Formats: sequence, structure tokens, C-alpha cells
Amino acid sequence: MNTVSLTLNEILELAKKTLLANGCDEENASILADTIMRAERDGSVSHGLFRLPAYVAGLKSKKINGKARPELENVAPSIIKVLGNNAVAPMVLSLGLPAVIDLAKKNGVAVLAIKNSHHMAALWPETEAIAEAGLVGIACTSYKPAVAPAGATKPLYGTNPISFAWPRPGKTPVVYDMATASMAMGEVQIAKREGHKVPLGTGLTKEGKETTDPGEIADGGVILPFGGYKGSSIAMMVELLAGALIGENFSFETAAKDNNDGGPPSGGEFIIAISPEKISGKGWDKHADQFFSKMSAMDGVRLPGERRHKNRLDKGPRNINEELVNKIKSLS
Ligand code: NDP
Repeated sequence: MNTVSLTLNEILELAKKTLLANGCDEENASILADTIMRAERDGSVSHGLFRLPAYVAGLKSKKINGKARPELENVAPSIIKVLGNNAVAPMVLSLGLPAVIDLAKKNGVAVLAIKNSHHMAALWPETEAIAEAGLVGIACTSYKPAVAPAGATKPLYGTNPISFAWPRPGKTPVVYDMATASMAMGEVQIAKREGHKVPLGTGLTKEGKETTDPGEIADGGVILPFGGYKGSSIAMMVELLAGALIGENFSFETAAKDNNDGGPPSGGEFIIAISPEKISGKGWDKHADQFFSKMSAMDGVRLPGERRHKNRLDKGPRNINEELVNKIKSLS
């Protein structure tokens, strides 16, 4: 693969210029470009520049409003709703996160229900921001069906990511951010191309049979949730939290309403922020740190989020797929 070396600032500017050329105003373009740059910076590359052409598709079809101004509603002492008004998720989060953090610090716990926004990003930026403020953050969102519930042979769940971030005052939070699918379809396709087998439990053939052949999954088959029926229940929980609980669509409803332009569909996100200081009182951080030290001392263990946080320390340029950069340049 040929690559082009771009500084973080060049990545930011390339993303911003492309978004401005495709219907975003300054605020929307700056906020989304910043999220894209931070994904590249952290090595969260599946959610960096790679997603830009899809955002542009959504902007071109006018499914996404690049000039949207989300609106915040205080619906109860610990519940905030943000109506996205078809904004991209980072724009909605820029309004909702400071508010949910304030409420959780005051009340001990607060929920942020996001509606009618377009999410095609990783979830760690939101949970990590909550943890940086000294709170526990949990977030999840659904998408369009790609994953079969345990026992089924057809998709119903999205890849339904969930992220959890634990605050560590004076240190980087511990964060995980993961799809509840056994494997992304993109990775199944790579395994097919490279001739590797995938583990049993990754997916089913189009006849609904278990297989280790990625080709049989990619060509009309279906992905399974991670961890069998246990992961399936977690994926179901994400459908309910990011769907019925906040008055948003389930993945199958999202698919029925989407215009299939390749851009992220309209949907919701469930976020909760919890104050350990309020619940446990002083000392919670030292107690948790003892646990992390014990965990990290075990052979072969690393904390989730550590890979990204190490990447973040490197302020140098990043090598980006040349074909992708040329494609993005042709969009502006
Ligand atoms: P991965 O399987 O790559 O990683 C999942 C998590 O596990 C990360 O937090 C990672 O930390 C951690 N991890 C990986 N290896 C280890 C290890 N050996 N020990 C401890 N922790 C480990 O992520 P996914 O492919 O499941 O998801 C990728 C991204 O896709 C996520 O950001 C997710 O939010 C996003 N996504 C978004 C969707 C949307 O609709 N918006 C849909 C589906 C996915 P680290 O980062 O440090 O490696």
C-alpha cells in the first residue's frame, strides 16, 4: 500500500477543507475535522479520514445538515436530551457533553439522550471526555442490521458499539470501546482476500451454517455477536438503550428509513455519566489504581485504551493510504 505522510495539522485541514466544500459551515466542519484528526492521531484509523467520503455522501444527499444547530432540552434533574437536527454526532456531543458532565457532578449521575444525529465515529471521544472530568462514562449506539442474534441466521442488530471509561485523576483514563459484533465485516473481507480462516463463531453462511471460511460469511452470510448468546444479550441491550429508552430507532427501523447514500443514517446515542466521588467518597481513585496495578502486573495483560494512548504521545506525521488521500482531495 502506498502512503502519504501528513502531519496532524494537515489531516485536520484536509478534513475541514473537504467538509467546508461539501456544505458544512465553519463550526460543523471544525468539530468533525477535529474528531477525524484525533482518530488518526490515536491510531483509531477505521474512524479517521477513511470515513470522510461517507460523511460527504450524507452531506451531498442532504441527509446530514452541515449547518445544523442541535438543541438541548433539560427533561428532568438528571436527564438531558439533545435533538441533533441532523447534525453529525461530534457537533451534538460538543453541546451535550459539558451539560451531562455538569449534571453528573451535581447530582451524582446524569443521562444524555441524543436523538436524530449521524454517528459514524468511535465512541471513546465521548466516554474519555467524561472520564477526563473525573466521572465514569458509558456510551452506546446502534446502526443498521449486520449481526444475527444468537440462534438466528439473519441480521437484526447493528454492530452496536459500547464504550466505558474509568477516570484516573492525574493519569489517562482506562477506556474500552468495542463493537459487539464478533468481527467487523471489513475484517472478514480482508481475511477472505488474504486467504485466512476466521474463528468459529465469527459468522454464518447464507444457509445459516457455522463456518470458518470468511468468503462464505462475506458473500451473503451474516456476522454473529461476540461471545455467543452472552454477547448477543449485550447487543440487544444496546438496541434497547440507544433505541426504545431514548425514543430512537432500532437498527432495523434505521435501515428502513435510511436513503442508503453510504453516509451514516440518522440515529441516537445513549450516554451516562456517574460520579465516583459522590457515590464512594474520597479514596475511590486509589482503590481503583490498586486494582489496575495488580492487573497490569499480570503477564500478558495490558489495559484497554493503552495502545491508543501510546499512539497519542507521538506528535509526528501519520502515514495515510495514498489512494484515500487522492479520493478525499477529489471531493473538494
Ligand atoms: P477492537 O476490537 O480493536 O478493540 C476493542 C477494545 O479492546 C479497545 O478499547 C481496545 O483498546 C481493547 N483491546 C484490544 N486489544 C486488547 C488487549 N489485548 N487487551 C486489552 N484491551 C484490548 O475494536 P472494535 O473493532 O470492536 O471497534 C473499533 C471501533 O469501531 C470502536 O471505536 C467502535 O466504537 C467503532 N464502531 C462504531 C460504530 C458506529 O456505529 N459508530 C459501529 C461499530 C464500531 P485499544 O484501543 O487501546 O487497542
